[in-house]
Amino acid sequence: MELVLDFSIAKVYKNNSQRIRVITESWTSKNIYCSYCGKQICQYENNRPVADFYCNDDHEEYELKSKAGKIVSSILAGSYDKMIERITSEENPNLFLLSYFDKSVNNFCVIPKYLLTPSVIKKRKPLTDTARRAGWVGCNILVDNIPEIGKIFYVKNGIINDKRKVLEQFNKIAFLKQEKIESKGWILDVLKVVDEIGKDDFTLKDVYDFEQRLAKLHPDNNNVKAKIRQQLQILRNKGVIDFVSNGNYRRIK
Ligand SMILES: [Zn+2]
Repeated sequence: MELVLDFSIAKVYKNNSQRIRVITESWTSKNIYCSYCGKQICQYENNRPVADFYCNDDHEEYELKSKAGKIVSSILAGSYDKMIERITSEENPNLFLLSYFDKSVNNFCVIPKYLLTPSVIKKRKPLTDTARRAGWVGCNILVDNIPEIGKIFYVKNGIINDKRKVLEQFNKIAFLKQEKIESKGWILDVLKVVDEIGKDDFTLKDVYDFEQRLAKLHPDNNNVKAKIRQQLQILRNKGVIDFVSNGNYRRIK
């Protein structure tokens, strides 16, 4: 894998976002493999509505979003209604996020399609009456709201990750594919809390400290503590965390 972006291929394009699109798509099709099976991905011809790449083997699709800068924390993602419709349908592609810095790829990660839940999509303010598309409502994907385990990096801070590790990590979170949106929401929210605790070893009390926030996110539930314990049990069964002793947990790397 080569991290330098080839800017010479897009000299004919005057529009900057179009140039970046051509350059980053070309880089991705040369360097990136399918997150599911590890085979080289293929690029769609232009003008596909959503997906940019696909895998010939398992037919998984990918959309690429690129951004200048060192990290991607939030990304503009077109119409809000279309996005909600898309993430709740079968047609939803996986998301590749690329950030570049100094003409070189600094970060490249995949977000599996089943982690794009409505809670990571934020509605933007409608366009004002003077705009050409007055009243149109766009959205952002809040990448920061996705737990770390759900962002699988091929390249992180300019360092290329081992392919075996990328596929392993991608596989680790795959159990969420089967979960319904509501239970998925709970698991992801608890994972996000574990991220924020920020330690490999943590206690049940550390997680309980976020009870208020989780209660706010799930107003219909009146036994948040029991729900927290249930999510930790699921994460243990799926090999994401370990039970060390009563009330003590450890993240599995
Ligand atoms: Zn594949």
